[in-house]
Amino acid sequence: MATVLVAGSWRMGKSLLALPVALAFTRYPQADGKKLQESWKQRMFNSIVVRFAPSPTGYLHVGGARTAIFNWLFARSTGGKFLLRIEDTDKERSSEEMVRAILDGLKWLGLDWDEPPMRQSNRSERHREECLRLLETGNAYWCRCSAQEVEERRNQLWDRGLAYRCPDSCRNAVSTRRPDENTVLRFKVPEGKTHFNDIVHDAITFDNREIEDFVLLRSDGSPVYNVAVVVDDHDMGITHILRGDDHLSNTPSAIVQGARI
Ligand SMILES: [Zn+2]
Repeated sequence: MATVLVAGSWRMGKSLLALPVALAFTRYPQADGKKLQESWKQRMFNSIVVRFAPSPTGYLHVGGARTAIFNWLFARSTGGKFLLRIEDTDKERSSEEMVRAILDGLKWLGLDWDEPPMRQSNRSERHREECLRLLETGNAYWCRCSAQEVEERRNQLWDRGLAYRCPDSCRNAVSTRRPDENTVLRFKVPEGKTHFNDIVHDAITFDNREIEDFVLLRSDGSPVYNVAVVVDDHDMGITHILRGDDHLSNTPSAIVQGARI
């Protein structure tokens, strides 16, 4: 499971403390000399891989730059890798001009990256493949409900303090064949609890009943953004996520999905 560091927008003071806490582990027994310290550091951190993943729908803004700097500092101070992923799946709003502007902005800040930037739009088949694999392994289902049925049921469950689940007719259908063109593929959130380690907030636990059966594939067959992020993080070997506190609430759904992938 990835360890989560928060580089939150409103928790700047506390977030700034997060890196020294993590990096304090590198200060290991001095008695055995610098060599041992270096070798321990190498073993502990040489597998760290972090990423900055901007959407090229606008210029690099200060919040994005700040997240990029935290990731870069973490990678460079631990001997890990700093990778870039261009999240350009929104074809209408993304542009090559913005990709260049963002990369120029990062260079202007003095940041460098260890591999050519990944283009998320080149990987939609891979994202789709993972969704269908989740279906085949019983971790996803075709949802036949209309938008109105979903809305009504969501409100009813919400009143009982529960996140959205389809009726058993959708959720427990045995066939993996897509019933018709209007269906979406939903993730089948397992029962239980989801735990993750947040270096700022400490250990966090969510009851899975609070996580709704979210959509993986839209009715046009395209994977949603959240699928792309989880599959790409998995394939890129990302070990630590440095993200804003505003993403705390969507972390458990990413983790339950990532665990199944
Ligand atoms: Zn349904």
